[in-house]
Parts: sequence; structure tokens; C-alpha cells
Amino acid sequence: MYLELNMRLTDEQEDLKESVHKFSQEVIRPAGEKLDQMDLDEMIQEGSLWWECKKKMRELGFHTTFIPESLGGTGMGPVEHHIIWEELGWGSVGLALSQDVDVYPASWLLRMNPGNQRLIDEFVKPYVNDLDAGMIGCWGLTEADHGSDILMAGTPQFREPKISQSMKARLDEDEWVIDGTKSAWISNGPVATHALLFVSIDASKGMAGGGIAVVPLDLPGVSRGRVLRKLGQLDLPQGELYFDNVRIPRDYMIVGPDRYEFWVEQVLSVANCGMSSLFTGVARAAFELALGYAKERVQGGRPLAEHQLIQKKLFDMFVKVETARAYSRAAVEYCFTAIPAPVQYAVGAKVYCTQAAFENAHEALQIYGGYGLSKEYPVEKILRDARAALIEDGCSEVLSLIGASAILRSYLLY
Ligand SMILES: Cc1cc2nc3c(=O)[nH]c(=O)nc-3n(C[C@H](O)[C@H](O)[C@H](O)COP(=O)(O)OP(=O)(O)OC[C@H]3O[C@@H](n4cnc5c(N)ncnc54)[C@H](O)[C@@H]3O)c2cc1C
Repeated sequence: MYLELNMRLTDEQEDLKESVHKFSQEVIRPAGEKLDQMDLDEMIQEGSLWWECKKKMRELGFHTTFIPESLGGTGMGPVEHHIIWEELGWGSVGLALSQDVDVYPASWLLRMNPGNQRLIDEFVKPYVNDLDAGMIGCWGLTEADHGSDILMAGTPQFREPKISQSMKARLDEDEWVIDGTKSAWISNGPVATHALLFVSIDASKGMAGGGIAVVPLDLPGVSRGRVLRKLGQLDLPQGELYFDNVRIPRDYMIVGPDRYEFWVEQVLSVANCGMSSLFTGVARAAFELALGYAKERVQGGRPLAEHQLIQKKLFDMFVKVETARAYSRAAVEYCFTAIPAPVQYAVGAKVYCTQAAFENAHEALQIYGGYGLSKEYPVEKILRDARAALIEDGCSEVLSLIGASAILRSYLLY
């Protein structure tokens, strides 16, 4: 177990870290390695190892950390979230991400529309009690023609009337009718039962004229694409969601155009906090593997770890892990307590930590030499997993633009 630089962790938080780490080491890491080599359609078939992992995460209550105790959840604080994310990311980040997005419909419904008891009874309570992974959530924002621009809340481009989402929702008496497609990047798309769905309602306001709905995915008119074939995070199943005249009750639309831009920024902040914590775990996994290998592998009559060039690489990797943890944990603490969550800290942490994870994975593979390229060793998977993160939940360049826009809006110079 690594030494925690933060001396303020309570005994309970230390215990949480130890128990999630044990679970991640015994269940998530070995499962992630097996799933990475499995046929993707087989991976999501009933009874597969992937479903076994989802059920085990349910039994441990990871799906209720955002749900308050009054509704049966564990209602954990920011540091506890950070600890769980880092440890699960350390194990296998695809499975960890599947868990992370799973909670979106229930947790965002509670935040965006806390007064609607009917929806809480229908979506949140059954989800909290579901220890069998029968209810799986996802969030559907990205479209084939809209990736970065659909995310750029807070920038002038978001209010440009010429650019709006392709997925439309129109009101027909007491129902919303939804038409359109969400892209192949929807995490959990092939298995989800519910979506937090982002749609266009008033295109004259550009991207800002949107709405956010909770949508059960067994409704007439919903269909799915096949599981996406991709470079990394293979244990995170992704695929398109198609909506053809799908009708939902009026109150399933939990955010309308008046608050849409605000909530997109809030969702992005929390999503990026999660990503920064998960990829702190990935950066640490790469560092620890490289350290272990460097102590064992002998070249020139000495372990690699006794060669000074390798020592310098290990030191730089260690510093990146510590910086990533300090930054992401501070961002999570700040963004989970401030209302509204200040997006510049969340995107800053995500950009930094995913880059740190990618650089550490790259160096770890280099330290493994030729063996690093082999599927017999774990580092090539970690490098592929980390590479995807520089695009996932916003490309680093675009997140920097969103962060810059927030800084320009909010900084007071003396
Ligand atoms: C592993 C993974 C999981 C994901 N999960 C989900 C999910 O669960 N739900 C969901 O809705 N989406 C999801 N996504 C989608 C993700 O959010 C998008 O891929 C991302 O926002 C980028 O969009 P794009 O891929 O269409 O790239 P594009 O927007 O087409 O960007 C292409 C390139 O152009 C650059 N670029 C774009 N705009 C600008 C600009 N204004 N200035 C400068 N450069 C620019 C980008 O930086 C990038 O390099 C996921 C993606 C990945 C990779």
C-alpha cells in the first residue's frame, strides 16, 4: 500500500482506502485484464465476468455513494469519492468508468429536480435497492456530428444559433417526443436500462437551448448499435442509442432551456472530477508496475532500479502521481461543496491527471522494454486505457478552452 501524503485522512477513510484497494486488487484488476482480451459481444452477455463485476460493485454499494442516507444511499463525502475512484481506477479504469456513469440518471435527477417524489420513487429508490445490477445508467450527450461543441457550456459558441444538437425533443400535449441518435461513445450504451439524455428543445438558442431528460431505454422506439470496437478501455462497453418518436411523460424532462447551460457545466465539472480521480489511480498503477519491474529486471549485472536514468524516470512518475492526487482531491472537495461547482478546477484536474496517467503509462512501457509491448504484461493495456482519456469527457484542448473561458469570467485582478 502506498504512503498517503495527506496526513488528515481519518481512520475511517484509511479503512475505506484499504478495503476498496483489496477489492480492486482481488477482483477488478484481474477481471479487467481478462475482459481486455475477450470478444466484446461475449463480454456483455448475461452471466459473463463483466456482469459478475458489476454485481460485486453493487453489493459493495458503490452505486449509492451520491444518494443521501435518507433515501437508502451511503451519501459519501468528496474525499471518500476520491478514494473509491482512485482505487477502482488503479484496478481497471474501464470497469471503474462503467460504475461511475451508471449512477448518472439517479444522482443527477436528485440534484436537478429534487422535489419530484414521483420520479424519485420511480428511478432512485429501485436503483438504490438494486443489488443485482438490473438497472444500469448512462449519459447520452455526444452525437455523431457534435462532440466538442455540445460540451462547451460557458463559451460564446454554445449560444450560437446556427449550431444545435441533432437530437430533438418536442412537446405533444403532456408528453415529450424524442427523435435522433446518440453516438457510439455512450458508455454503458449497449447495456444501460436508463439514460440521462441531452436533447435540443429550442434550436434558436443554439446548443444552450437544450433539455435534460431521464429516459427508460425499454420504451417503444429505442434501439441500440453494436458494441464499439476501439483502442482502450475495452471493459467499458460503448455504443449508439437510437430514438425514433420515443414518448416520455412531461416531467421526465428534468431540465429545460432556461437552466440547460448551467447544468451542462455542472455535469461536466463532476464528470471531470471523477475522471481526474480515476486517472490518478491509472497514473499510480503505471508507476507501481514500473517500480516493481525495475527492481526485478537485471541488465548490466544490476537491477534496472540501480541505473540512474531509470531512477530519474521513477522519481518523475512518483511526482506526477502525488501531484495528480493532490490536485484532483482538492478539485473534488471544492467542486462538490461549492455551488455552482467552479468548472475551471475540474477541467484543470482532468487535463492534468489524464496527461499524467498517459505519460506514466508511456514511461512504464519504456521501462518494461520489449516485454512492455506484449499482452503477457499489464502495461500496454494501461497505455491504451490512458490514451482514450485524453479525448473522453472532452478532449484536453477543448477542456482547456472551457477552463480559460471560466477563468476570464471569474478572475478578479487586484
Ligand atoms: C472512452 C470514451 C468514453 C466516452 N463516454 C461518453 C459518454 O458516456 N457519453 C457521452 O455523451 N460521450 C462520451 N464520450 C464522447 C466524448 O465526450 C467525445 O469524444 C469528446 O467530447 C470529443 O468529441 P469528438 O470525439 O466528437 O471529437 P471532435 O469534437 O470532433 O474533436 C476532434 C478534434 O478537434 C479538436 N477541436 C474540436 N473543437 C475545437 C475547438 N473549438 N478548438 C480547438 N480544437 C478543437 C479536439 O480537441 C480534437 O482534437 C466518450 C468518449 C470516449 C473516448
